[in-house]
Amino acid sequence: MFNPNEIREQFPILSTQVYGKPLVYLDNAATTQKPRCVIDAISEAYCTINANVHRGVHHLSQVATEQFEEARRTVQNFINAPHSRQVIFTRGTTESINLVASSFGNSFLKEGDRVIISTMEHHSNIVPWQLLRDRIGIEIRVIPLLPDATLDVEAYRGLFNERTRLVSLTHVSNVLGCTNPVKECIDIAHSNGVPVLIDGAQSTPHTKVDVQALDADFFVFSGHKVYAPTGIGVLYGKEEWLEKMQPYHGGGEMIQTVRFEKTTYNELPYKFEAGTPDYVGAIALGKALEFVQQIGIENIARHERMLTQYTLERFAEIENMRIIGKPDGSAVSFLVGDIHPADLGTLLDRLGIAIRTGHHCAQPLIDHLGIPGTVRASFALYNTREEVDTLVEGIKRVARMFA
Ligand code: PLP
Repeated sequence: MFNPNEIREQFPILSTQVYGKPLVYLDNAATTQKPRCVIDAISEAYCTINANVHRGVHHLSQVATEQFEEARRTVQNFINAPHSRQVIFTRGTTESINLVASSFGNSFLKEGDRVIISTMEHHSNIVPWQLLRDRIGIEIRVIPLLPDATLDVEAYRGLFNERTRLVSLTHVSNVLGCTNPVKECIDIAHSNGVPVLIDGAQSTPHTKVDVQALDADFFVFSGHKVYAPTGIGVLYGKEEWLEKMQPYHGGGEMIQTVRFEKTTYNELPYKFEAGTPDYVGAIALGKALEFVQQIGIENIARHERMLTQYTLERFAEIENMRIIGKPDGSAVSFLVGDIHPADLGTLLDRLGIAIRTGHHCAQPLIDHLGIPGTVRASFALYNTREEVDTLVEGIKRVARMFA
C-alpha cells in the first residue's frame, strides 16, 4: 500500500488554502488534481521537443512524434488494447462518444434503428444520441433502474429487438458511485449481435480496465479525471468497427490523398485524428498513466474503497443523512434533511471543503430519483481519512445552522 500523505506532496495544489483553511478537495469525479511529474512533462515538452507531429523531417518533429506514439502505447498497455492503432486521441469522453455517435451512426444506423442507453447516463452519453435521433430518426431506449437505483438487467434483456444496433452504457455512475455489471451487459448485447460502447470516465481512474477481458467494442475515457491535463482523452475501438466507420472530422493527417474529385483516408488511428493533435496533452496523459501504474491501480482502488466505506460509517452519525444509491467505489452522493444541496455545498466551501452539488450532468437520473440534486464527495488516491473527518464535522456544523 502507499501512504497518501507522501503522495500528497507530489500534488502542489493540495497544500494551498481556501478562505484561510487547508483545501479539502473532494471533487475528483469532476476532475483530479495533477502530480508534479505531469505538470513537469508539459513544461518539458514545450521546453525541449515541441514541434508538430507526423509532419516534419526535422529532428524535433521526429522526437515529438516518437513521444506522442509512445504515449499511445502507454494507453494501449493501460487498458490492455490489442494494438495501439485502436487507441484514438480525442479531447475527452464527450468527444469520444460524439465521434462514435456520428461516425458509427453515419456508417451503420438508419431511421428506426435502436440504441440502448441507461437512466443513469451522463448528458455526454444522452445528447449525442438525441442529435442522431433528430438527424436520422433513430429510436433511443432507456434501461430502467431497480428501486435501489441499480441497473435493471432483466429489463435490459427485454429491450433488444432486430433493429437494435448499439448499447452505450456507463461503467460507473458519476452520481450514484455504483459500478454497473458491464461485462454481463456486454455479453447480453453480444448474444443479440449488438456492439457495446462503455463510458469509462468514472471507472478508468479507479479500477483496472481491460478492454479485451470486457470484450467492449468501444471504450472511452477522459485524461483529466485520471491525473492528466484537460483537453485529452481516448476512444478505444475494435478494428472491425473502426475500419468500417466513416471519419469524424475532415482535415490534415486523416487523409492519404486529396484530390478535388475524391479523397482517400489514412489508416487507423489517424483516420480519426484530423488536424494537429494535442500531442503535449497526450504525452502528459502517458506520464499520468505511468504514475498510476507505478502506484498500482489496485492499491488506488483499495484506498478509495476504504475511504468510501469510512465515509458511509461516519455518515451514519449524521441525523437525516440520506445516501443516494449504492456507492461501491470512490464517490458518495447524499442529502441531509431538507437542506438544499447548493446551500450545503456553499457553506462547506467556506470551510475549505470542495464538493460537488447539483444534477452532475445527469438530469434524467435526478428527475427519476425525484430529488433536487445531490451533494457528492468523490475521492482520489491523495485523499485521507482526516479529510473525511473534516467533511463530517463540516456537515454537522451546517446541519446545526439549519436546525
Ligand atoms: N461520462 C461520465 C460518466 C462522466 O462522469 C463525465 C464527466 O463527469 C463525462 C462522461 C464527460 O466527461 P468529459 O467532460 O471529460 O468529456
